[in-house]
Amino acid sequence: RVVTRFAPSPTGFLHIGGARTALFNWLYARRMGGTMLLRIEDTDRERSTDAAVQAIIEGLDWLGLKADGEPVSQFARAARHREVAEELVAAGKAYYCYASPAELDEMREKAKAEKRPPRYDGRWRDRDPSEAPAGVAPVIRIKAPQEGETLVRDVVQGDVRFPNKDLDDFILLRSDGTPTYMHAVVVDDHDMGVTHIIRGDDHLTNAGRQTLIYQAMGWDVPVMAHIPLIHGADGAKLSKRHGALGVDAYRGMGYLPKALLNYLVRLGWSHGDDEVMSIENMISWFDTADINKGAARFDFAKLDAINGHWIRGSSDDDLVETLMVERDHLPNGDILRQQDDATVRARLGAAMAGLKERAKTLVELTESSAYLFAQRPLSLDEKAADILANGGRDILRDLVPVLNEVTDWSAGPLEVAIKGFAESSGLKLGKIAQPLRAALTGRSTSPGVYDVLAVLGREETLGRLQDQMS
Ligand code: GLU
Repeated sequence: RVVTRFAPSPTGFLHIGGARTALFNWLYARRMGGTMLLRIEDTDRERSTDAAVQAIIEGLDWLGLKADGEPVSQFARAARHREVAEELVAAGKAYYCYASPAELDEMREKAKAEKRPPRYDGRWRDRDPSEAPAGVAPVIRIKAPQEGETLVRDVVQGDVRFPNKDLDDFILLRSDGTPTYMHAVVVDDHDMGVTHIIRGDDHLTNAGRQTLIYQAMGWDVPVMAHIPLIHGADGAKLSKRHGALGVDAYRGMGYLPKALLNYLVRLGWSHGDDEVMSIENMISWFDTADINKGAARFDFAKLDAINGHWIRGSSDDDLVETLMVERDHLPNGDILRQQDDATVRARLGAAMAGLKERAKTLVELTESSAYLFAQRPLSLDEKAADILANGGRDILRDLVPVLNEVTDWSAGPLEVAIKGFAESSGLKLGKIAQPLRAALTGRSTSPGVYDVLAVLGREETLGRLQDQMS
């Protein structure tokens, strides 16, 4: 039975790269009928915050990547980490080291002078603990093999070999009794029954050291898949400018969770030529064997295109409800608070079919709905004001009596009436639509003008036209 895990450090928001790692773990667990666990790696007490834990859980919730069971706190497991380290000492696989800071400094200086990476020289490896200096709290170091190599069989990277002479006797437990990251991860993954570790390839060298701990304990090493990091569109390491932002920032930019997931799954994984895929598709297609070896590039234009696709493909009702929730997260969400909720829902619902065709984000969708809720008299943008000032008002004055006669106020009959007016007045249809649109929306562009009239309804339409006459 497959058990994956997502193990973020709560030192900041849920980063977009972290969201992709969570997605891969979640998909693989779903695909295999297994579970995905969430472990909060909060051993670094100075940098971990409750706010970050909240942000991670909220971000996962919003994306729909719910973990199975309760989140595990790594910090809460400190006693168990100590227990395992001591077990390793008892078994002769680890040892107490009393080297002083001054001695360690000396080792570092020596390495520097010899131009090689610093490594602990093993001076307490075979010494008898009775030689321990009084009053010094020791660390626990692993007794790593000094010859041969350690093999990491990675699903993505292939076989990766680490010469053991490079791995040295690293620390498992600090002198204050707290575990190192290296040690805590292995103990937790083992105790949580993790079978598959899918994480960023910045952890690949850790995998070598972690394998030594598994071997020393006689535990099975989980299957490992180290996924290439996400780079910016220019190939450089992902920075803020490239999109290295928290998931909440993407929410604020108006992306749908299913669109963001669709985009993220394609960053480093592919299924033939498929670009657009639903969550169900992803679950049935995802396999760690198809993860790409090369770094993926983040591209906002592509994300926008996929988001636009999923907006157009959503039902009108779903989009209305989504907007009612997301307005709290959108910079222009106040547009959707200018009328009572029932009115906002009704007007959005009536206009949605026309609005959703043009929007790539929920921010754009909200922006384009602004005319529905604007208070009379409307404020006009510059182009709209020009259109009305330059002959537009006169046309509307003649059109109003025609509209007054329309009994069935829906797009079809309205179109018939306005086309009839165009014929009898000898005006081109565009000449009529322009001032109509300007007076009704305050802008020079909008969805189809017949739809605008129908959506606003008779009273509001005639009222807005009247506002421009007086
Ligand atoms: N806590 C680590 C991180 O945030 C991940 C550790 C792991 O996946 O093994 O990068």
